[in-house]
Amino acid sequence: MSRLMGQMMQMPLMISSLLTHAARHSADTEIVSKRVEGDIHRYTYRDAELRARKLAQALARLGCEMGDRIGTLAWNGYRHFEIYYGTSGSGLVCHTINPRLFPEQIAWIINDAEDRVLCFDLNFLPLVEKLAPTLRTVQHFVLMSDPAHMPAQTSLSGLLCYEELVEAEDGQYTWPQFDENTASSICYTSGTTGHPKGAVYSHRSTVLHAYASALPDAMGCSAQDVILPVVPMFHVNAWGLPYSAALVGAKLVLPGPHLDGKSLYELFETEKVTFSAGVPTVWLGLINHAKQHNLKFSTFKRTVIGGSACPPSMLRTLEDDFGVNVIHAWGMTELSPLGTLSKLKAKHLDLPLEAQRRILEKQGKVIYGIDMQIIGDDGQPLPWDGKSSGNLVVRGPWVIQSYFRRDESPLQDGWFPTGDVATIDPDGYMQITDRSKDVIKSGGEWISSIELENIAMAHPAVHEAAAIACKHPKWDERPLLVVVRKPGASLTREEMLAFYEGKIAKWQIPDDVVFVDEIPHTATGKIQKLKLREQFANHVLPT
Ligand code: AMP
Repeated sequence: MSRLMGQMMQMPLMISSLLTHAARHSADTEIVSKRVEGDIHRYTYRDAELRARKLAQALARLGCEMGDRIGTLAWNGYRHFEIYYGTSGSGLVCHTINPRLFPEQIAWIINDAEDRVLCFDLNFLPLVEKLAPTLRTVQHFVLMSDPAHMPAQTSLSGLLCYEELVEAEDGQYTWPQFDENTASSICYTSGTTGHPKGAVYSHRSTVLHAYASALPDAMGCSAQDVILPVVPMFHVNAWGLPYSAALVGAKLVLPGPHLDGKSLYELFETEKVTFSAGVPTVWLGLINHAKQHNLKFSTFKRTVIGGSACPPSMLRTLEDDFGVNVIHAWGMTELSPLGTLSKLKAKHLDLPLEAQRRILEKQGKVIYGIDMQIIGDDGQPLPWDGKSSGNLVVRGPWVIQSYFRRDESPLQDGWFPTGDVATIDPDGYMQITDRSKDVIKSGGEWISSIELENIAMAHPAVHEAAAIACKHPKWDERPLLVVVRKPGASLTREEMLAFYEGKIAKWQIPDDVVFVDEIPHTATGKIQKLKLREQFANHVLPT
């Protein structure tokens, strides 16, 4: 019997189509950027699309060919946005690089990706000059600025000016159509051990991720939104927001390197931002600034918080004191990044506020497209009872199948092991207990470092807290709490420990508390547990 085939058009899912759609249907919607230089730049999707076409022409003139990698060392800004689309749209691969990594790591990543062109913001000129002698494949260095800001002297031979390149072109360029599985961008994982690994996204995975993440139960983006991604465009494509904003035609506000509480607050207010996204640490700065100056937000209504666990106290402060709804999300570089987000179901709407909050504090439900399981040590799936905790594995069309130029497959039976330990409740809400490496193993029982941190963060004198495993002769490991006090606040070890009483089982309460001025963070703003464990490797717990 012959199979009846669907009779629909075959149109590959192309990243360029997101921008052409925005340019046609939201032509005068603005993209506003706070530049590295400090001033504000504003233009529209129509302007951005034309300049992305000109950039595609300019890169072709430099000799770039399908599949070539174009590196970026840049903050969130309109030129970076144009590079996203000008490269991927023309079949090149946009390779965003995290400038907060160590210089040696940056050079290693650029060499591994074999970037042919490196585009960078003005403030990274000294870094690029330093790296240049070690970069084996870069043929062109492009300073993302205008002629007025080109350096009088530089060790980079033939340094090109972004504005000159773009403005030399006429824009007579048609976005090509090609296989939707073609690589569109690369992002390297931060790699706490060993070398970073490249996740290679495709046009298809990126467009599907943009569709899914804009859904109401995900980020819920719309043409009425003004979106300010605090999450950097070098951290998993700013969680896909440059794509989903274009997909829905939302105004975009790009803050450049100006991420302190004061600068962000001003931008939120002047540009009437409604929606944002970022890791918990950036919200600490913004909340402190707003509290200190008794400020309220006039338009800011909701934000996605993810990248590391959002402390429940932060969720409550944003909602109760500032009227900002928090959407707690979990994801990974290997997932483009979105996996789960926490939103209520209809049946939860009549629950008391506290019961609703306990649901929203979890990392949430998967978006359609992602499938997840928790696996026990015996390799068998565990029940979704909200109690059994196991290794979280995922699969889906925007989950990696392999890493760039690595032969060994990371998959286990077709699933990607996330390295996270989690529970899933009967309604499908997933909660991360820990990174498997960070969980504290005390006498064969597991203690969640995230739970200990969340409790500490609820103490009014605590600015930031991290719980780590400390060697113990009898129990193998016991929890040590590392605390940064709020400026001017007083808090003793005994007061901190007393705060845990009644909140968790006695045996889970940390054995000791140390106070520090600062907790180390990774290049993507997560607490550097490995470094803390090294720092306190010889810490002697009280008996
Ligand atoms: P990255 O690929 O650098 O974005 O890191 C991904 C990892 O960040 C995940 O595997 C988790 O360990 C952690 N992570 C991301 N979001 C959350 C969250 N909401 N709660 C707890 N951990 C998270």
